Amino acid sequence: MVPMLSRRALLAALPALPALAARKRSALLIDGQNNHAWAQTTPYLKRYLEETGLFTVTVSTTPPKGGDMEAYRPKFAGHDIVVLNYNGEDWSKATEADFVKYVRSGGGLVVVHAANNAFPTWPEFNEMIGLGGWGNRTEKDGPYLRLREGKWVPDTQPGRGGSHGNQHEYLVTLRDPNHPITKGLPAEWLHAKDELYDRLRGPAKNVRILASAFSDKATRGTGEHEPLIMVLSYGKGRVFHTCLGHAVEAMQSVDFIVTYQRGAEWAATGKVTQKLPADFPGKDKVSSRP
Ligand code: ZN
Repeated sequence: MVPMLSRRALLAALPALPALAARKRSALLIDGQNNHAWAQTTPYLKRYLEETGLFTVTVSTTPPKGGDMEAYRPKFAGHDIVVLNYNGEDWSKATEADFVKYVRSGGGLVVVHAANNAFPTWPEFNEMIGLGGWGNRTEKDGPYLRLREGKWVPDTQPGRGGSHGNQHEYLVTLRDPNHPITKGLPAEWLHAKDELYDRLRGPAKNVRILASAFSDKATRGTGEHEPLIMVLSYGKGRVFHTCLGHAVEAMQSVDFIVTYQRGAEWAATGKVTQKLPADFPGKDKVSSRP
């Protein structure tokens, strides 16, 4: 005989359902070669993602410079975002092809600071990041983006791609308040001491500039507004690209943390659920987290 179970007993007998809302996204953070202190900064980039409660993070470290890059073949598929804290030797053709397929088919990409110096001769990568610097980038690699009458317009004049003046604290100006990443951010805020990348150039296709900063000639800059935070699409993939974050001090600036955390969520899901924290800087004072 089967005893009748009460509704409550029946529910209690069901196996616990995994909490649907709690499915974490998977991030693959790549480092290993960089003219920047990648071993110091990766723990911050990893922790900031984990602190959102949205991500699990796996770090993939390439062979050192001069190592066997043919043997480096991470599995991109299955991750929701790839975070690049990498500025080093070219990957193998097979790894490049895997990466293009990953982003083209909808994988998210987050590019931090000097990662936009990487791979100057890899056309698909440069389309993904829109703008890059150094690595002999010149007018052959694409235009600058210049702010003219409120619009970002390509400027094809000859010249170097990528430079920066003295490191300093600088005002960042919001250029697009209607993107999920920037919704609710103040019109301007003060960013901690950092490099202010200037004269980046590249294909600059499918790019939406979210924020910029004025590169003052007084700090050996260009006298132009330089695009510093942007989003792009590449195939079905979403790309978040921040030029901020030269070193730990710059990464501890709350605006770096928040735009990076939101950018990562957006690259992974197309949405941003994170609330703006109370310590986001205004325009008079830097706000940093130790
Ligand atoms: Zn730098």
